[in-house]
Amino acid sequence: MSEFTVLNPATEQPVTTVAQPTAADTDAAIARADAAQARWRAVAPGERAAMLRRFAAAVDSHVDELADLEVAGSGHPVGQARWEAGHVRDVLQYYSAAPERLIGQQIPVPGGLNVTFHEPVGVVGLIVPWNFPMPILAWGMAPALAAGNTVIAKPAELTPLTAIRIGELAAEAGLPDGVFQVMPGKGSVVGQRLVDHPAVRKIVFTGSTEVGREIMAGCARQIKRVTLELGGKSANIVLADADLERAAATAPYAVFDNAGQDCCARSRILVQRSVLDRFMELFEPAVKGVAVGDPAAPGTEMGPLISAAHRQHVASYVPEGAPVAFRGSAPAGPGFWFPPTVLAPVSADDPAYTEEVFGPVVTVTPVEDEAEAIAIANDTPYGLSGSIWTSDVGRAIRVARAVESGNLSVNSHSSVRYWTPFGGFKQSGLGRELGPDAPDAFTETKNVFIATD
Ligand code: NDP
Repeated sequence: MSEFTVLNPATEQPVTTVAQPTAADTDAAIARADAAQARWRAVAPGERAAMLRRFAAAVDSHVDELADLEVAGSGHPVGQARWEAGHVRDVLQYYSAAPERLIGQQIPVPGGLNVTFHEPVGVVGLIVPWNFPMPILAWGMAPALAAGNTVIAKPAELTPLTAIRIGELAAEAGLPDGVFQVMPGKGSVVGQRLVDHPAVRKIVFTGSTEVGREIMAGCARQIKRVTLELGGKSANIVLADADLERAAATAPYAVFDNAGQDCCARSRILVQRSVLDRFMELFEPAVKGVAVGDPAAPGTEMGPLISAAHRQHVASYVPEGAPVAFRGSAPAGPGFWFPPTVLAPVSADDPAYTEEVFGPVVTVTPVEDEAEAIAIANDTPYGLSGSIWTSDVGRAIRVARAVESGNLSVNSHSSVRYWTPFGGFKQSGLGRELGPDAPDAFTETKNVFIATD
């Protein structure tokens, strides 16, 4: 078995090594999950709920440990990492109510009784990216388990540590053997096997649109169920009647959080021309005020990028002569650092303006009016997220309805709340995660008619 060395992105020093399973190891895990599925679905709903609550409690009592692992292995600021570990607990807790509420329908029909059941789909393969290793794991794992499926999670090769620990906590909390397994390893080996193996009945994938397209094609061969959460190029629309102070103060965090490695990053700021100068005056100190540095330090707001290769990719969007309006700071020395960077004015064909950068780079573009803001916001193959700043409630609703995007926030930058559905329009994905209906995406509706005549 080969090994992968996890690096601390803030220091470039090795954290630990992780064994890489082979395709044969993956097949063995799939066989275990398949065997466990019949037993798991037969666990009484109340007992399954109790097990998930015990799992949530186990995560709760290890929040600091999990956060420290994410700081070391992914470079997330410690405050954010603690929130993420707490989020895993909350998502488990929320879906622990689902087993006892997988309620079907009784439908009036002639000659008998008709009822529907929500049956688990079976073994679920959960392919997780490196940008939010804990939250994205929880969004798939918790509703899938609640609905009676068994789950094999494949974390990103670069960031496996928290998923491995959460897998151990599941076992310590009493989840039966084979119900939840973590298989760290390469996408091209473990991930591909999950897509190709016929016993895996559903794939939940978060990552690049490019790989998502391949996964969808792979799933199509077996009509395998698939949920995709892919890229984004979201707009932050600031209209002239907005509270400009708040809009400018919060805009850095809407794109530089997690060093911009966020599919919901509002990486195109569209500002009504009449307030552009004032917005930029306010935006500059806000960008320069972002605390970039040691992720383990309590006040840090932005850490490093995930890897040297990714930093090189992000830097390619800011070549020599790029229209840099202003930049924040970043530490010198080891670590994959990249400063918050504001580009303006940008041309309409600048890759920083048209492509997902997945780093702390934002463009600012003037718009004449509401109609132009909507047209530009929609002029992208993506449609995941976005924000609208205005003090006119009617306009806020009008613009929100017109922007082709799955998750919008008005006078705020909220995207992901586990109580509400999350997912993308267009090439940002397929299906929805989270919210009250998420367990349904892990079930098949079965209709049963019982003759009474
Ligand atoms: P990928 O899409 O390559 O990786 C996401 C996950 O898919 C990882 O677990 C990866 O494994 C796995 N994977 C890769 N290839 C396959 C395959 N053939 N079959 C099954 N699973 C596979 O993202 P990258 O890490 O390469 O990031 C590239 C770009 O993607 C980023 O710059 C960003 O633009 C975008 N991205 C978007 C994300 C989002 O949240 N929407 C998240 C991450 C990236 P492994 O780690 O081994 O490669």
